[in-house]
Amino acid sequence: MPLRATKRGAERTPLRGDYDVLICGGSFAGLTVARELRSTGARVLVLDRYELGERQTSACAAPTEWLRSLGLEDSVRQTFASLLVHTRATTARWPLPWTFSTFDYRTLCALLWAQRGPGTSFETAKVEGRRGDAVVTDRGEVRAPLVVDALGWRRVLGRGENVQPPEARLSRGLEVHPAGSAKELELWIDRAVIRAGYGWSFPARDEVRVGVGSFDPHDHVKQPTVRLAEALDRDTVAYQGNWIPHRLRPATDDGVFFAGDSAGHCLPLTAEGIRTAFYFGIACGRELRAVLEGRRSAGAALERYRAFSAAHRWKFEAMLLAQRMVPRLAPPALDRVVDAFGRRRVSHWAFRHYLDIAPPQYALPAPPPAVDAGRDVPPAAVAA
Ligand SMILES: Cc1cc2nc3c(=O)[nH]c(=O)nc-3n(C[C@H](O)[C@H](O)[C@H](O)COP(=O)(O)OP(=O)(O)OC[C@H]3O[C@@H](n4cnc5c(N)ncnc54)[C@H](O)[C@@H]3O)c2cc1C
Repeated sequence: MPLRATKRGAERTPLRGDYDVLICGGSFAGLTVARELRSTGARVLVLDRYELGERQTSACAAPTEWLRSLGLEDSVRQTFASLLVHTRATTARWPLPWTFSTFDYRTLCALLWAQRGPGTSFETAKVEGRRGDAVVTDRGEVRAPLVVDALGWRRVLGRGENVQPPEARLSRGLEVHPAGSAKELELWIDRAVIRAGYGWSFPARDEVRVGVGSFDPHDHVKQPTVRLAEALDRDTVAYQGNWIPHRLRPATDDGVFFAGDSAGHCLPLTAEGIRTAFYFGIACGRELRAVLEGRRSAGAALERYRAFSAAHRWKFEAMLLAQRMVPRLAPPALDRVVDAFGRRRVSHWAFRHYLDIAPPQYALPAPPPAVDAGRDVPPAAVAA
């Protein structure tokens, strides 16, 4: 499958045109939205500044069931049924009621892309903003009545000046990807590793992704990452890092749909943002599909998607509260909590609720709408 769409030099021709849907950002959220539109026959353009799968944006671990539900099993590198969690004074194995898998980012993007519809195309371009009904890129302007911002934490198509780090509600993460192998999915919740945050070691068959995340955007993570990797006797090579929004943002704004990190869909505390990008990407795609199939107006779809995302606010706020509490726990209290999660009953209960925030069953095909049941506007009113 040709993934290399980057236009370079003379090939970097001006980009213009009108589409039914414009999806800005070709990672977890953007490719999931595109996948959801596969049956519509719509002219969909996906834009990203890099080739699909070129820039890994995370440690790439997600609940295995989510990967299965989306037909992405072939990207799986390693699967884990428990988490080994360390504090300064204790280590506990947290048994999981479901498994986590690390995966290969490039393969996963290729598998998602392979599920697109026949009218879906991809171009590399840097999205710079909006002018009227056009999306402005470094290769020209493109137009579509339905626009999705899946561009990650920068929320490029948001209105007004977006707050920038370090003052924004963002966490930050950095990791190295040395060659090697290991059996355990490990976390360190230890102030000696990072003041507010955690460190991780995520094995992925022939490489180990070792990194540190800080809930406080003012705290640097380079030295903590180097220290953790060296303590684990891992090479400090192949760095990748990013900012991570840790608070829900409005999922629609000025006629644009936002999905994934651009909408703050990454979960606070755990910084798990892949399955939520899938989950809200599907929700967004379902609304767009209803518009394309003439079952809903764009305005109604925007409102329904906004409300769907906002309905999750209390869960995100609860996770944010936990994110604020954990670094404040006195070490002995933290040790007791970590040890308590070593008990199967506690861990299974907590992780079941945690998975339910964005459950993998959501990826199963939605039942077809009953005749007229899903139609909230007469077809003639289905305009922009
Ligand atoms: C170090 C680290 C490790 C992490 N590990 C995990 C993990 O193991 N599991 C997990 O669930 N979550 C993890 N996360 C969080 C997760 O990476 C994000 O929540 C997730 O990537 C969000 O997906 P997204 O599609 O919304 O955005 P992104 O994956 O950030 O994708 C945004 C896309 O938009 C493109 N783009 C950005 N700006 C422009 C522009 N101006 N023009 C054109 N294209 C543009 C980018 O190239 C990219 O392809 C981690 C984060 C970090 C920083």
